[in-house]
Amino acid sequence: MRKPFIAGNWKMHKTTDAAVALVEALRAELDGVEGCDVAVCPPFPALAAVREALTGSTIGLGAQNMYWEEKGAFTGEVSPVMLKGLCDYVIIGHSERRNVFGESDAWVNKKLHAAFAHGLKPILCVGENLEQNKAGETVEFVGGQIRAAFEGITAEQARITTVAYEPIWAIGTGVPATGEDANEIIGTAVRGVLAELFSDDVAQAIRIQYGGSVKPANAVEFMSQAEIDGALVGGASLKAADFAAIVKDGLAAKE
Ligand code: PEP
Repeated sequence: MRKPFIAGNWKMHKTTDAAVALVEALRAELDGVEGCDVAVCPPFPALAAVREALTGSTIGLGAQNMYWEEKGAFTGEVSPVMLKGLCDYVIIGHSERRNVFGESDAWVNKKLHAAFAHGLKPILCVGENLEQNKAGETVEFVGGQIRAAFEGITAEQARITTVAYEPIWAIGTGVPATGEDANEIIGTAVRGVLAELFSDDVAQAIRIQYGGSVKPANAVEFMSQAEIDGALVGGASLKAADFAAIVKDGLAAKE
């Protein structure tokens, strides 16, 4: 039985003060909610203050990205050593990192290795673009991203990875996949490929989120699918009431 996991990706939103205010509002709604892991991923400058504001909370903390080297002449980058002890999770390979900043599958793989080397729990993002979706290439493309990302990763490391299947055409567009379609892609291109790479047992243990225009109105549609263990939420995670509704309704759909 996989424990549901819902995470908020705040992207490049919220000053430190606004981030603390949001997390305080979230604590009022979500502290003590059982049966579901919840995390927020604020921008780097707000991480320390949000960590402080989360003292004693059941809400976890994640970063949105990191570099794979521990230190050095990498201007503008943040290392896993800097994140260790500051947050629990790190998003790796978000489509905005891949497409806006040119991150390759090889980089994503290095980052995954670096996360494990430093005790961070990765949320690995994969997903096809609209062209690939229309051309019927989704399963092959997403499966390829999974194979490349997990190159050299052990079964024990794989078990603590969360995968977020996020079709690019659904991110920030207000046009989500259907629950059924997302469930099918996750079952074949994500969990199915993980079973080939590791074993059925390992694949069954890995939590897989859906991401892409998840809102309070569709949380139940996604969370009631057998292969979907949670959500990675962008826009709707910026409002405490919306994110709390997604968590509570989504969790109820799993019970
Ligand atoms: C995301 O940023 O990962 C995301 C899914 O965004 P949105 O929920 O806004 O589509």
